[in-house]
Amino acid sequence: MATGTQRFSGKRPSDKENAMKNKKMKSDKARTYSDRGNRVKQSTENKEDGKKSRCPYFKKCGACQMIDTPYDKQLRQKHAHVAELLEPYTRVAAFIGMEEPEHYRCKVHAVFTHDKKGNPLSGIYREGTHDVVPIESCLLEDQKADAIIASIRGMLKSFKIKTYDEDNGFGLLRHVLIRIGKNTGEIMVVLVTVSPIFPSKNNFVKALLKQHPEITTIVLNVNDKQTSMILGDKEKPMYGPGFIYDICCGMKFKISPKSFYQVNPIQQEVLYNTVIEMAELKGDEVALDCYSGVGTIGIIASPHVREVISVELNKDAVKDAKINAKINDVNNITFYENDATRFMQQMAESGDKVDVVFMDPPRAGSTPEFIDSVATLAPRKVVYISCSPDSLARDLALFAKKKYKAEKAIPVDMFPFTRSIETVVLLSRG
Ligand code: SAH
Repeated sequence: MATGTQRFSGKRPSDKENAMKNKKMKSDKARTYSDRGNRVKQSTENKEDGKKSRCPYFKKCGACQMIDTPYDKQLRQKHAHVAELLEPYTRVAAFIGMEEPEHYRCKVHAVFTHDKKGNPLSGIYREGTHDVVPIESCLLEDQKADAIIASIRGMLKSFKIKTYDEDNGFGLLRHVLIRIGKNTGEIMVVLVTVSPIFPSKNNFVKALLKQHPEITTIVLNVNDKQTSMILGDKEKPMYGPGFIYDICCGMKFKISPKSFYQVNPIQQEVLYNTVIEMAELKGDEVALDCYSGVGTIGIIASPHVREVISVELNKDAVKDAKINAKINDVNNITFYENDATRFMQQMAESGDKVDVVFMDPPRAGSTPEFIDSVATLAPRKVVYISCSPDSLARDLALFAKKKYKAEKAIPVDMFPFTRSIETVVLLSRG
């Protein structure tokens, strides 16, 4: 378990477990933080009664519904929600929270615009709109990332770079995306523009690096479409290799501007360590990693099993996963680009032997056909990683019909201050 991690039970604060252990979109669609993951039921306690919010943007932004709720109370509320949903299937263990829950986001997006006088502004979209809430610094975001965004905003006037106007299509700079490899210290800055022509490009890069020598790569991404996606198809490094690496659970992962990679690196390690510990691997297993993204879980599990078979729908993610396996000298993993359900059905038909299935589906959960095929393959264990307690509960009901019993559930707080709930469930064949 990584430093910065604390376990909280769903009990009263005084019952907070003392055990503090030191160990662990997809698309780039523009969205607000509260979009991520599933939600705890709407609470009336967005703010502690009558008090001013500790976040100056709370009223306008509204993304972190739990920003004024004490952290242990957030975890108790989220625990109560997931425990209620999973109650028919299994007991839900204490939430694994963070010791320092602020500034955890290592992927930071700022949309750029301007005020009526043309002064550049940057911030995030107000929930459900394309109105920009100007933000100087955010309690969730990595502080270095916020400082880089502020520097870029400050440089625009002297470089005569206009921010893009969604209404009339004028201007150049649309977004800035920062990705930080927390464990490598590498930093990627992605400048998203409507045109590939960036005035005084070299001087701009030089000036930005002078202020932030810690930046390891700068990428120009061109997005000339009227779309809610942040990133366009074309991109070119302006400085450095155009990607960064990060290390998670001792493995190295390549992060490109579009790669899916968890935004909270401390809890990402906690999550994956929990997944591996739960599977209690012996070393001779054939493991399936379904909905595998850039191969993280399969690659981290690979030293603990005989063979890993990974399946993922997104072509770019599969490409990255293959590179990640190579970087880490992992030779016992095979990646398939396919729909997980179709792949499982084919596996079930072929009668192959599988010992353990890791599944990490998107918020919608899995499918009845996928679960039927798991039952046909009859692995001893299934480790289900879920970002939606609702779809998880629905899928656990289907697993129960197939004689798979949920043995335990451990929620990991990947998104403090928001209502998102991530849960790992171990199922075993009855
Ligand atoms: N396990 C990875 C990624 C989990 S996110 C990690 O820990 O980082 C869920 C993944 O499921 C995404 O990469 C998404 O592209 C993929 N996905 C969505 N629908 C899918 C489907 N029908 N079949 C296979 N993969 C799918």
